[in-house]
Amino acid sequence: MSAEEHILQIGSVAVPFTLQLKQRGTLGITVFPDGAVLVSAPQGAELDAISARLRRRGAWILRTRRYFEAFRPRTPERRYVNGETHRFLGRQLRLSLRSDEASRVHVEGMLLVVGGAELTDHSTIRKRVSAWYSSQARQIFAERLQACLADFAPEGISSPKLTVRRLTHRWGSMSRDGSHLVLNVRLVEAGRPEIDYVITHELCHILHPNHGRSFFELLDRKMPDWAKRKMRLERALA
Ligand SMILES: [Zn+2]
Repeated sequence: MSAEEHILQIGSVAVPFTLQLKQRGTLGITVFPDGAVLVSAPQGAELDAISARLRRRGAWILRTRRYFEAFRPRTPERRYVNGETHRFLGRQLRLSLRSDEASRVHVEGMLLVVGGAELTDHSTIRKRVSAWYSSQARQIFAERLQACLADFAPEGISSPKLTVRRLTHRWGSMSRDGSHLVLNVRLVEAGRPEIDYVITHELCHILHPNHGRSFFELLDRKMPDWAKRKMRLERALA
């Protein structure tokens, strides 16, 4: 069985898809929640004929991708005022601005406390809160990456280099050669089980770059309840 990457043009939208040719009689199309499209076609089928068939299902493919897209992360407008809710590790914290306290950001019960004298300036507060989120994310993701890697001891994969930054359309991505993992800083708003799901999903990509059947077989084995975690992640941070 071989897999190739192609692009299907549906109207003005270019949709990348993975084509698997195998011993089967019919054409199968699967759209995954991250927008990836897997097409299975019989050995020997012509790409032109496959593309024509796909274009006929074009409206359905676009509709399904749009449906999943609605669950993917959006950046909410933040005003950085007292009492505003900010999510951290699966909890809703309320912003507490304290000009009379030491200049630091920390969690106190259900409060996200920002101390310091310069608090009337909202852009300063935003910068300090987002710097705090980034440093928490780097620390927590590094920890969770080591924990999740332990499940891959039988496969003997080595730890990818971790980068944390803002990603617009995804929670994480793994480089093709499995040496570099990028995680969305916003993932630190989710609980640890959901963070572990994203990391485990990406670690599975070290062994299977595409979302083919072997990828999902591995993910099922490493994390049998991944679908539940994924759903919680999408509901909480949509
Ligand atoms: Zn993936």
